[in-house]
Amino acid sequence: MSIRVNDLVHIYQAGTPLATEALRGVTLEIQEGEFFGLIGQTGSGKSTLIQHLNGLLKPTRGSVEVDGQNLWERGTNLKAIRQKVGLVFQYPEHQLFEETVFADVAFGPRNMGLPEEEVKERVEEALAMVGLDGEIADRSPFELSGGQKRRVAIAGVLAMRPKYLILDEPTAGLDPMGRQEILGEISALQQQGVTVVLVSHNMEEVARLVSRLAVMHDGRLIAQGTPAEVFSKGELLEEVGLALPQIAQLMHRLRERGLDIPVDIYTVEEAREAILRVLGPKQGKTARFLTL
Ligand code: ADP
Ligand code: MG
Repeated sequence: MSIRVNDLVHIYQAGTPLATEALRGVTLEIQEGEFFGLIGQTGSGKSTLIQHLNGLLKPTRGSVEVDGQNLWERGTNLKAIRQKVGLVFQYPEHQLFEETVFADVAFGPRNMGLPEEEVKERVEEALAMVGLDGEIADRSPFELSGGQKRRVAIAGVLAMRPKYLILDEPTAGLDPMGRQEILGEISALQQQGVTVVLVSHNMEEVARLVSRLAVMHDGRLIAQGTPAEVFSKGELLEEVGLALPQIAQLMHRLRERGLDIPVDIYTVEEAREAILRVLGPKQGKTARFLTL
């Protein structure tokens, strides 16, 4: 089971002088259960790509399949696809509109025609998943903090119990603490079996979490693989204006200075070990001292 994107092209306002080719032939497969990262600078086509994954946008060319089902074949139930593939937009809190948190989170399940008892169960479950106290359900979403509003909006998608969860820059605009909390909750969801696609323009954030990632530039995927595989292409990433995680930059610089260090390193722990290894036991002691 997977989401497959085959040679996807998307042109906004095709056939007009304002035509923009936002996707120029993207091929990609996201496997069930994985934690997938999608990175790229603003304007590279990330949001356009993910809006194809649940059928919000229609390909100009190419195809999208969810668990083997082509979204744009006759007879495909797009409503069912949108329950299966939950999409959390960037700044999703801008789309809160109900009088209470409960009503907002309940909107999707109610729309699915579920009995009110199950709606209630799902709302409670979804709020808990994003770390919100059940008591918040009676409050107005507009009284909440920015981070809480964002959680409510994410809960609204979770209440549909999607198999695939796609989040478009879920940490944008949050403070470092708020970012860490949301990322922690997203990781927990993935560990519980939800397939997660995390969209970000921040390498540092994505690198530590995902098992695989794809890098977009100008409507194309320019790299794909495990974080280690992708970060080993440091120059390519720099060319397209994506900063490597700081630790990977340091490894590259040490290598340029002649240290025999692998470049596919992106956590501080791994870096420490690699440096100690090349410095040898004696100098290693000094290095250890220096890091204290
Ligand atoms: P990202 O999410 O990586 O910032 P987008 O998918 O939003 O990238 O945008 C890709 C390209 O498509 C950009 O050139 C952007 O200006 C253009 N674009 C995005 N949305 C629209 C739209 N609704 N109409 C026309 N052009 C758009
Ligand atoms: Mg975007």
